[in-house]
Amino acid sequence: MKFDRVSFWFQFWNVPLMFMNPSVAKLLAEMVGIVIELPMVTNKCWREFMRVRVSVDITKPLKRGIRVWIEEFGVMIQYERLSNFCFGCGVIGHVLRECTTKHQELAGKSQPLKYGAWLQAEPTKQRQGSSSSKGKRQWKSF
Ligand SMILES: [Zn+2]
Repeated sequence: MKFDRVSFWFQFWNVPLMFMNPSVAKLLAEMVGIVIELPMVTNKCWREFMRVRVSVDITKPLKRGIRVWIEEFGVMIQYERLSNFCFGCGVIGHVLRECTTKHQELAGKSQPLKYGAWLQAEPTKQRQGSSSSKGKRQWKSF
């Protein structure tokens, strides 16, 4: 049996408040994978981000964000319970030092890595005060 799909709770950040609704959440979720679960808006989490459970193909690099052209905003994605993924190529199942692709050469050099710990959503209960510890998100290139 091939084991190449895993479902994650995605957090979509930076969505304008007026777009925080289930249909936009579904639309964004369908852009990154197969929708597994779409919580209702009543969740107070949605004041900051939208949360959707999506099944993704883990043989492909993780998506770091979505560019939404209609209103020109960039959606940042964070993954809950994401571990053991490569900061170089964004694929789950190995870490940077085990990476066989050429991205490894970029580590520690002038070129910043495309991925980082910022892709991992912090547990919702421990958000305060820890936002600076994860380094800066590379915005430009998704
Ligand atoms: Zn890799």
